[in-house]
Amino acid sequence: KERGKHRLARYEPSLDHDAHEYARLGAQLRRAIDEGELYLVYQPIVELPAGRTVAAEALVRWQDPERGFVPPDVFIPVAERNGLIVPLGEWILREACRQATQWQPRDGHAVHRISVNVSARQLREPAFPATVAAILAETGLDAGRLVVEITETAVFDGGVALDSVRALHGLGVTVALDDFGTGHSSLGLLRTCPVDVLKVDKSFVDEVTTQSDQAVIATALIQIAGGLRLQAVAEGVETADQATRLHQLGYRYAQGYHFARPMPAADLTRLLQADTPD
Ligand code: C2E
Ligand code: CA
Ligand code: CA
Ligand code: CA
Repeated sequence: KERGKHRLARYEPSLDHDAHEYARLGAQLRRAIDEGELYLVYQPIVELPAGRTVAAEALVRWQDPERGFVPPDVFIPVAERNGLIVPLGEWILREACRQATQWQPRDGHAVHRISVNVSARQLREPAFPATVAAILAETGLDAGRLVVEITETAVFDGGVALDSVRALHGLGVTVALDDFGTGHSSLGLLRTCPVDVLKVDKSFVDEVTTQSDQAVIATALIQIAGGLRLQAVAEGVETADQATRLHQLGYRYAQGYHFARPMPAADLTRLLQADTPD
């Protein structure tokens, strides 16, 4: 809750106290979805130190003819509140899974896994695991190639959301904890919620090179991941120094502007082809 408020305050000050504007944005989003104005971009997740792409995170984009570019940090919370995230999230999942089948690792491409952000509201839908199973069957994507990125806030109070994560894990889907370390229940959660991957938040990555002794949390988190046999992905890596330091600390996977920005699927396909030695 706390964090949700902060996010609103940070990203949409006008929406926070303007219910009318909020409703208007919701209506425009509904129209944009119907008109097919939303699309996905994909950001590589790479293996350190060489930076070879091994996975990609799907990120949704909304380019509105009137408003221009609306960042997901603004419209996803709106979609969560008015329930649009349920059909939108389903479309995102289907689109990302379909795209991932075009990036078969055996074709020399290196997108072994496709990561999709799943919001709390989606996880609270009892039918969500069945929807995911249906999308996997429909697209033919191996369950093991799909990663659902969830936040600790979504599952910390248990309930249907936690049941959903367990059911997804039961299907063979990989579970990643997004923005790890920024919530308030991180460690306890690892005992109750099946988690395979920790995505270490950018705020800890930022600290690894600012001061030589400031990598305390990034170091602790990689140790926790190692101890629990979880994979760790360092998020928001912007410089070569950060990448080097993270690798020294034991990080094997990273994501960030230093390696690549989110890009349309066709651009990533080209990048993968250029990457592949033949
Ligand atoms: P997130 O899941 O933590 O996604 C990472 C965000 O950090 C993305 O912003 C990405 O573009 C950005 N980023 C990646 N590397 C760097 C870097 O080196 N430096 C900086 N400064 N930023 C970097 P984006 O795409 O604007 O997404 C923001 C948030 O919106 C996401 O945070 C996620 O919470 C939400 N979101 C985006 N797409 C979806 C979606 O399809 N479904 C849901 N439910 N949420 C989404
Ligand atoms: Ca994410
Ligand atoms: Ca994140
Ligand atoms: Ca984030």
